[in-house]
Amino acid sequence: MDGIGPVILSGVELAGRIRSQLASEIASKGGRPPGLAVVMVGNDPASSVYVSSKEKACAKIGMAGAVLRLRGDSTQEEALAAVRSLNDDPAVDGILCQLPLPAHISPSAVSSAIDPSKDVDGLHPENVGRLWRGEEGLFPCTPLGIMALLGEYRIGIEGVRVVVIGRSDIVGKPIAAMMLHANATVTLAHSHTRELQNLCREADVLVAAVGRPGMITREFVKPGATVVDVGITRTADGLHGDVDFGSASPVCGAVTPVPGGVGPLTIALLLSNTVKAWRKHLA
Ligand code: NAD
Repeated sequence: MDGIGPVILSGVELAGRIRSQLASEIASKGGRPPGLAVVMVGNDPASSVYVSSKEKACAKIGMAGAVLRLRGDSTQEEALAAVRSLNDDPAVDGILCQLPLPAHISPSAVSSAIDPSKDVDGLHPENVGRLWRGEEGLFPCTPLGIMALLGEYRIGIEGVRVVVIGRSDIVGKPIAAMMLHANATVTLAHSHTRELQNLCREADVLVAAVGRPGMITREFVKPGATVVDVGITRTADGLHGDVDFGSASPVCGAVTPVPGGVGPLTIALLLSNTVKAWRKHLA
């Protein structure tokens, strides 16, 4: 690959196309627009940035976006009551809780309280079960975005060896399930995995979802492999992925940049999940 360079898997154009398709669907249906509600507890500065970008993204496609802000010292029962009030609100199609939550509130208690038909982050046990069983449901946005991006660039998944680094409920586990359903042979690696570098070097598709900037150097990459960089670490000099792009990209067959790779698709797929829930609620 040296000299030719890898295919850069940009998520920007695909995300733009998804958003404009959603905008036309909302405009053409008329009537009640889809509604997305974000519950935010406390005022973590990074979370505030994410929440306001979600609000703006909703407004741009004609979706109603609302943020329910709770004080950082709110109790778990107050957070659950807020979720229940949104479950009962017929104008709300999608509910998500912005993470991280304060330590005294259990993220799994909150996600389990969300009506599964409004669970646009795909974290309710019913949707998690549906994903693993290969049934219809609402599934986490970042993994959906990764699958859409690989599909867009016609990266074959069937029969290939996929290594996912990171086993979170929001990225690592669900992308492993989706890859499995796409007939890949999947290995899920994590902080206790031994000989990670050798393992990664066997991957035709390597998905890094760790949050350690630059950890994936060229020694982790099989020549010609597709590398999906999910990591986002915000520092004073900008956003950094898990992939050391300068070192690794010359040996990759295809690679996602940070920013501009997986990131833009996460919000696009959140909007798409909300529209999916809206269609179902209208029907
Ligand atoms: P998390 O913090 O919940 O989990 C990190 C995972 O990395 C854990 O499963 C852990 O076992 C693993 N890990 C930690 N150190 C490791 C090591 N040295 N070797 C191997 N594995 C190791 O992470 P998350 O919520 O899945 O997020 C991961 C990264 O992806 C973060 O940087 C986050 O900001 C980013 N992210 C990006 C998007 C996007 O839209 N691009 C969406 C979600 C998360």
